[in-house]
Amino acid sequence: MEDKKTSKKKKVCSFCGRSEDEVGFLITGMDGCICDSCSEQAHEIVQEAISSRGSKLAKKISLDKLPKPKNIKDFLDNYVIGQDDAKRYLSVAVYNHYKRLLQKNKKDDVEIEKSNIIMVGSTGTGKTLLARTIAKLLDVPFTIVDATVLTEAGYVGEDIESILTRLLQVADYNVDEAQRGIVFIDEIDKIARKSDNPSITRDVSGEGVQQGLLKLLEGSVVNVPPQGGRKHPDQKMIPVDTKNILFICGGAFDGIERKIAQRLNTHVVGFNSVTDSAKFDRNNLMQYIAPQDLKSFGLIPEIIGRLPVLTYLNPLDRDALRRILTEPKNSIVNQYVKLFEMDKVKLTFEEGVFDYIVDKAVEYKLGARGLRSIIETIVTDVMFEVPSMDVIEYNITLDYAKEQMSKINIYRLQSA
Ligand code: ADP
Repeated sequence: MEDKKTSKKKKVCSFCGRSEDEVGFLITGMDGCICDSCSEQAHEIVQEAISSRGSKLAKKISLDKLPKPKNIKDFLDNYVIGQDDAKRYLSVAVYNHYKRLLQKNKKDDVEIEKSNIIMVGSTGTGKTLLARTIAKLLDVPFTIVDATVLTEAGYVGEDIESILTRLLQVADYNVDEAQRGIVFIDEIDKIARKSDNPSITRDVSGEGVQQGLLKLLEGSVVNVPPQGGRKHPDQKMIPVDTKNILFICGGAFDGIERKIAQRLNTHVVGFNSVTDSAKFDRNNLMQYIAPQDLKSFGLIPEIIGRLPVLTYLNPLDRDALRRILTEPKNSIVNQYVKLFEMDKVKLTFEEGVFDYIVDKAVEYKLGARGLRSIIETIVTDVMFEVPSMDVIEYNITLDYAKEQMSKINIYRLQSA
């Protein structure tokens, strides 16, 4: 009681003890006060606590309360258009992979094997996007490596272990975290065996790399050079166990349709041939892809065996491109709208602009990546002018879009 009376007379901050005239201002509560700087500090402490609790929570969820395959697919649907088959395969494979991590400590006769994934589909159809989105959902370290830079140890290029260096780097060298991460190996088709004939010259960037990848894919302890590149004798290595790292491989496998067609044709010879061959959709042979086709393409059987989940991506048609433009949560259009919003300008597009963009992407075979280049071309001048203009809204008309496109050499736009 006594205290209350004194505090009424001369208000002081209950945290730092400074009086009203020593601080910016005091906020008065029921039994005490807090000054502006203490409340700022308190705010920071709360923010830190929330974010650390948040990340712990995310880790917990990914292991204890696994998102179900359906939830994983729903999440993917927010970011990736179409590709339903690939999404379903991925969802199940990832779910099983993390179930396997849960099982790890329990003594069990049935040991669940790794479910590494291989996705086959033309460039720009969403393979990387799928892998990246899965990693976002699971909140695990994720890295993309390009198989084309890898060579067999001792040759010019990067050692295979450098794949794990990148994973360690994104996990801030936290080995435990890296050991449950996801690695996306892009362009896996580029390390296909160059010919069926094991020839006199060594295939150091093809079969040699495949052999090197085996031990990573199946799960073993690998000594990783912390800075990547070439290993050298006096470098300290970090041992990383790849047992629980999920590998997702992707590749365009150009021309694999021919191998699929060949296999389908040979298989349909027989009394069922007429009905079977009639069932094949010749326009999209990729959906019939099977492990043998990867072998005919030049992947060695041991690699194929360690990538048990095989799925494919469809080429993107006009409708898919149109949806990609606006539907995903972070669609290209939404990104530009956001950029303008930061200047307090509402960016709008006239009816027909989106269809025009898609028309151009289709006409010049620019694919999904081309959509971004086209839109960039259309709005660059506006982005230059608008921040210095006194406007609250800017509408891109179809005529303006056409005019901007007529100014550039469309062949310079990137498709891949
Ligand atoms: P890939 O790995 O198959 O070569 P990406 O996943 O890198 O292709 O796709 C390139 C870009 O194209 C992505 O960043 C995304 O903007 C867009 N894109 C491609 N496919 C899709 C899709 N199915 N849904 C949404 N966006 C897509």
